[in-house]
Amino acid sequence: MRKTLYWIAAILAAALACAFIWLPGYVENSMNGVLHKPPYQISARARDLESRIPIVDLHADSLLWSRDLLVRGTRGQVDIPRLIEGHVALQAFTVVTKTPRGLNFQRNTAGSDNITLLSFVERWPPATWSSLTERALYQASRLRDVASRSHGKFTIVRSAAGLRAYLDRRRADPAITAGFLGIEGAHALDGDLANIDRLYDAGVRMMAPTHFFDNDIGGSSAGVDKTGLTGKGREMVRRMEARHMLVDLAHAAPRTIDDVLAIATRPVIVSHTGVKATCDNSRNLSDAQLRGVAHTGGVIGIAYFDVAVCGTDASAIARAIRHTADTVGVDAVALGSDFDGAVVAPFDTTGLGLLIDALFQAGFSEDDIAKIMGGNALRVLLSSL
Ligand SMILES: [Zn+2]
Repeated sequence: MRKTLYWIAAILAAALACAFIWLPGYVENSMNGVLHKPPYQISARARDLESRIPIVDLHADSLLWSRDLLVRGTRGQVDIPRLIEGHVALQAFTVVTKTPRGLNFQRNTAGSDNITLLSFVERWPPATWSSLTERALYQASRLRDVASRSHGKFTIVRSAAGLRAYLDRRRADPAITAGFLGIEGAHALDGDLANIDRLYDAGVRMMAPTHFFDNDIGGSSAGVDKTGLTGKGREMVRRMEARHMLVDLAHAAPRTIDDVLAIATRPVIVSHTGVKATCDNSRNLSDAQLRGVAHTGGVIGIAYFDVAVCGTDASAIARAIRHTADTVGVDAVALGSDFDGAVVAPFDTTGLGLLIDALFQAGFSEDDIAKIMGGNALRVLLSSL
């Protein structure tokens, strides 16, 4: 009897060890696919331009997965070596703290959560099991750990002065990159606005009111009631602006977008989105919403995946960018890949030259492309942080 129990325990332990070693990679592999693997066929003109301009991407969920971001990955779409190879000067690392089971773009409740299970599988600290703020703080600490082990290859940007100093350094040494922290959904505050300060101190400089469900701050475009900004949400915007944090309207319900735009006194951004004109669904922005965001001096980051741009190649992304530029001017357009955000991408971050080629084909000049690929986002960050 004792022997049988011993064997059952041994088999369970082995299965558990297997699960912890193998499962995180399997989960990510099944969620963050790349349609076309490198090497990429990029024109000499695009190769030349991408090496001369600072590229900025306003959205990637890479911190959700258990890879060491200092190691060039065989899965996923972003890590430090691939950012450097792709000439990305600045990458937003956005933190996800809770996503509903059966996640969809129409209607989700807050009643279930995938991230709890993921946090077990990836062995996050116990404090993260019950607190969404702790989940955000943990992911922020992982990015700080990447920076501290990078021997100067990767810097976390926390201020406009810090960003300026880093860009000066990068002009002398292009083989470095940087990131800044954002959050998807203010449920990460655990209902307490005082947590804005804790997250700010941890390096967070951008936050979206909502993600896939309505919360105590506002409505989600994929929520049930899709409400506007609550009283608490208004106070959150006020406090974020006071700390020079960017309000990100990605995933927000139309009423919440309107409410934020009505009270914003600083540039507002949309970190990763598509536009209804080229891809009509509830997640994407109308022309009026594009105009509203541009009016604040902010930028709209165009995402790369099928649901955002109704296509699976660089020309679909360029189409959304072309429409945005034609509607609100080229100065309001930016990139917001949604890399590593449980989406299949046409290329990984070393393939941005394909997008430059598609932008040339869409009729943009070199100067315009430089603005779209990063210049506009830098303008907002340098004037806002
Ligand atoms: Zn998102």
